[in-house]
Amino acid sequence: MQKELLKVEDLRQHFPIKGGWLGRTVNHVKAVDGVSFTVYEGETVSIVGESGCGKSTTGRAILRLDEPTSGEVHFEGEDLLALSKAQMRKKRKDLQIIFQDPYASINPRQTVRQVLEEAMAIQNVVPREQRAERIRELMETVGLGAHQADRFPHEFSGGQRQRIGIARALSVNPKLIICDEAVSALDVSIQAQVINLLKKLQREFQLTYLFISHDLGVVRHISDRVIVMYLGRIVEIGDKKSVFDNAQHPYTKALLSAIPVPDPEKNNERILLKGDVPSPINPPEGCRFHTRCPFATDKCRTETPELRAEDYMKEGHLAACHYMKEIEAGEMQPQ
Ligand code: SF4
Repeated sequence: MQKELLKVEDLRQHFPIKGGWLGRTVNHVKAVDGVSFTVYEGETVSIVGESGCGKSTTGRAILRLDEPTSGEVHFEGEDLLALSKAQMRKKRKDLQIIFQDPYASINPRQTVRQVLEEAMAIQNVVPREQRAERIRELMETVGLGAHQADRFPHEFSGGQRQRIGIARALSVNPKLIICDEAVSALDVSIQAQVINLLKKLQREFQLTYLFISHDLGVVRHISDRVIVMYLGRIVEIGDKKSVFDNAQHPYTKALLSAIPVPDPEKNNERILLKGDVPSPINPPEGCRFHTRCPFATDKCRTETPELRAEDYMKEGHLAACHYMKEIEAGEMQPQ
């Protein structure tokens, strides 16, 4: 049986909007609004969705880089939101994050050796006298030469800097790594190299990844399971094959239709969504997707669909749409 590593329950992140003379809270941006999911040991779960769907905010809230408004985050059974700030800092040894722009998260005045040494010293994971050897190992593990450890971040290319970001995350022997758009800024060929490196490291060190990305092509390559988010909520979740081959939510179908297909014989008709993503300050009532959904009815405008399964769906595959069965059966036509 798979072991639960991370369990997120009803997580909410509402950022206050201040206004008026007194700077009072006049409203909230509901960036994450009731998100629940589990990540099992050794798997890669991806969170996908358009910009502003709440995927990166979810990652930051799990690590408490921004304090969540409410909800629960359990890591190995321990409630992370109940930890003091000092306890949480220690806990970050087990939960690391790799950002899209490693350069922004690395001190440009430090050499790579200093960056890695600092990470190990803060978490006190490797005795001082063994750190030089550990740095040599880490550099080689991520495909950089040990001799490059005394260079500064600006002396490296984008792909190499992301390898430094990975080395820094690995330096404290984490169990879970949150990859927040970690390969999005890289050229396609470099992207593939970094993804292959992440997969290799996962096998070697039994790592678990929460992979946050807007790029479904990358997600298809790396994931075991996929979570699709729209306007702060999960609209579909399931194993990769179920979601990619048998997507149920109209939003997921639209996202998938935008992936380029290499085979010209295959007809992948692009589903164009109308309008923009609504504001997370006043999200639409009922199904949040109804303002853009080609199947929306009056019920969609008033009743919020829960995540659920139909009997033809594979175990663990859930979607939040009132009409997935009717759409699947071709009984409803897009308008
Ligand atoms: Fe579209 Fe209605 Fe389903 Fe929402 S519930 S995805 S609006 S059909």
